[in-house]
Amino acid sequence: MITDPTLMNLFFVNLDGVRVLGIDDEVTIPEVHIELERLVAGCPTCGVVARVQGRSPVRLIDLSMAGRRIALVWNKRRFICLEPACEKITWTEVDHRIATPRFALTDRAGRWATFQVGAQGRPVCDVAEELGCWLFR
Ligand SMILES: [Zn+2]
Repeated sequence: MITDPTLMNLFFVNLDGVRVLGIDDEVTIPEVHIELERLVAGCPTCGVVARVQGRSPVRLIDLSMAGRRIALVWNKRRFICLEPACEKITWTEVDHRIATPRFALTDRAGRWATFQVGAQGRPVCDVAEELGCWLFR
């Protein structure tokens, strides 16, 4: 079992600025919990430094590992803009390296699935079954 946080990050995520918080393997699909290491964020509309308002865990279908389906749980921070005149008000973190907002798959799982269907000619239902998509409903 890997317990060293640096090795866990390299093995499970391998993205700069992403920290693995832990792995929950006492659920149907093991969950790798992550967060972004960035401490300060600016409002995407006005640029004022934002305040963290809370977290919203987002559960994503990730690549299988060693024959086991894996879920990536991204503990996204919710921010609030401190500029009263700004119309943005609140938002959550976005990092397209992890996943596109409102997508069910991680970016790497989406790329893998696209390759399997587009280049390998596999049926979508087979790829979805391999990733365990039906378990995420
Ligand atoms: Zn703002």
